[in-house]
Amino acid sequence: MSHLGSTDMPLRVAIVGSGPSAFYAADALMHSGTTVAVAMFDRLPTPYGLVRAGVAPDHPKIKSVIKVFDRIAAAPGYSFWGNVRIGTDLTVNELRRFFDVVVFAYGAEKDRALHIPGEDLPGSCTATEFVGWYNGHPDYRDRTFDLTAETAVVIGQGNVALDVCRILAKPVDELAHTDIAAHALEALASSRIRYIHLIGRRGPAQTKFTAAELKELLTIPDCRVVIDPEYMQLDSISEQELALPENAHARANMEILRKIGDSHPSTAQKQIHIHFLKSPVALLGTTRLEGVRLEKNRLEGEPMKLRAVGRGIYQDIPCGLLFRSVGYRGTEMPQVPFDHSRGVIPNRDGRVVDNGTPVVGFYTCGWIKRGPQGVIGTNKPDAAETVKCIVEDLPRLSPCEARDDELLHTLLRERGVRVVSFDDWRRIDAAEMERGRAAGKPREKFTRIEEMLAVLEKA
Ligand code: NAP
Repeated sequence: MSHLGSTDMPLRVAIVGSGPSAFYAADALMHSGTTVAVAMFDRLPTPYGLVRAGVAPDHPKIKSVIKVFDRIAAAPGYSFWGNVRIGTDLTVNELRRFFDVVVFAYGAEKDRALHIPGEDLPGSCTATEFVGWYNGHPDYRDRTFDLTAETAVVIGQGNVALDVCRILAKPVDELAHTDIAAHALEALASSRIRYIHLIGRRGPAQTKFTAAELKELLTIPDCRVVIDPEYMQLDSISEQELALPENAHARANMEILRKIGDSHPSTAQKQIHIHFLKSPVALLGTTRLEGVRLEKNRLEGEPMKLRAVGRGIYQDIPCGLLFRSVGYRGTEMPQVPFDHSRGVIPNRDGRVVDNGTPVVGFYTCGWIKRGPQGVIGTNKPDAAETVKCIVEDLPRLSPCEARDDELLHTLLRERGVRVVSFDDWRRIDAAEMERGRAAGKPREKFTRIEEMLAVLEKA
């Protein structure tokens, strides 16, 4: 007998987003013992989310996970619907008419704000914009960064902050053969930035970045990393925290931080100054950024819950460019419940809930489910948890009205939307790699949607 998830009536799943969590959800669905048809939607003509637009260009190994995603995309029952913006080209309620289940996996695109005076001054930027810009994301293609000042400040001590520091500090020759966007490479080639200040509001035992990324900072040619030894003295609670078995990550970072300072020549062209226990309280300048005012902090609270508290002692750092790298933030999708305080879709184990009640057929995974933390691999168990809920709920799901992809194609065509399939993406991919060959790069990305669609028109 036909029932949802049988070969006669495959479970039709729309996944909104095509980053790591979306692909891991597709894979888990395909291995769930249920017959599925997975349609993956992305507002861009290109898949892979932050693996394409977030992972730094000098981290090609991390990007090799794309091979895994390509194998998932080649499985029967998978389809890519690129260049379709859910919420605009097609509302969520319309999408629901065509699919039994919708999984929201669209990540956390925006950045958290500092909420301090001067935050919007020209010269004050978000890491999100800078990362998108050097990675060729169409949204940030026309963003410009004034790299004429000698000093840049990066607020935050997570891996994104380290990516920003590294891209600013690396000699361009080291970036020239990566897939960095051509416009960024050109701008960085004439950058005058020499001093980069990396500011943490808590101490060296509370850094969020990972040891591998920190070590990498020390390998940048002609770049000295400096830490004021005063800040390497830990308070007793940080010492306790550091000794906790679950805090191996912080111990690994501390070990590296303690060695910094002895081994780098002071004649280096560029310097990265790592600051601890300082919070930005104001960005200075009238018509554009001229500096940042930091307040020195002490730590208060219990181990693993230490908070930075201002001491009323201030320090100004003059700078012409500042990046806020204090974490990403999810955005609301019309017709979907949203938790504004956390910037996530409210859910229980991946089941979307509205005021505590599950919304039938709606699920979520990845950063928009749990908030913007974890590395690519974290998304695998996270997506598996969501898919487990979908499978458990199968008997309670009702089939969607329109079980027909052609009808959906027609609707989108009528709305002037050029849907980009996975085969279309492969053509764009091949064209990018071809462009890259000439420049000795793995690819030269198209950074405008029109350029990507033009490749398909030619084909
Ligand atoms: P993150 O790891 O959450 O780091 C955010 C940083 O901003 C923390 O140091 C945090 O300090 C600080 N911060 C937050 N609010 C602040 C404020 N108001 N004032 C001053 N500082 C503030 O975020 P992320 O760097 O954006 O990274 C997001 C996720 O992507 C992470 O899981 C990261 O590991 C991952 N990622 C991985 C890689 C890689 O594997 N190579 C690369 C990039 C990103 P507190 O600790 O005090 O809150």
